[in-house]
Amino acid sequence: MSMKSARDRLNCPNCGAPITSYKCEYCGTLFYDFANLELYEPSYIRLRIGDTLNIFRAVTTSIEVTQSSPEVCYADNKPFLCGNPDITVTVEMRVVSDDKGVLMERRRNV
Ligand SMILES: [Zn+2]
Repeated sequence: MSMKSARDRLNCPNCGAPITSYKCEYCGTLFYDFANLELYEPSYIRLRIGDTLNIFRAVTTSIEVTQSSPEVCYADNKPFLCGNPDITVTVEMRVVSDDKGVLMERRRNV
């Protein structure tokens, strides 16, 4: 019996193709994994920018979710809630060194 990761079991919400990478092979939709955001627990962050993978050790110092109120619209002089509220997720991380003092590692062409 083979074990599959959670990502392998998901399908792209945009086109329905199986998700096999950080990017949908069919439509190009990007996926970001934030698997273990524990406040104040140091963890290693893999941040891919183009063909460069940046790896750094960081502590998540705050996770904040804010949502704006929906608009009030009127129809026949009766108010109702309309529009899509803006939802903002803000994650703040502070980069910290490990025992060797390394702050960041870069790998190109990955
Ligand atoms: Zn897709």
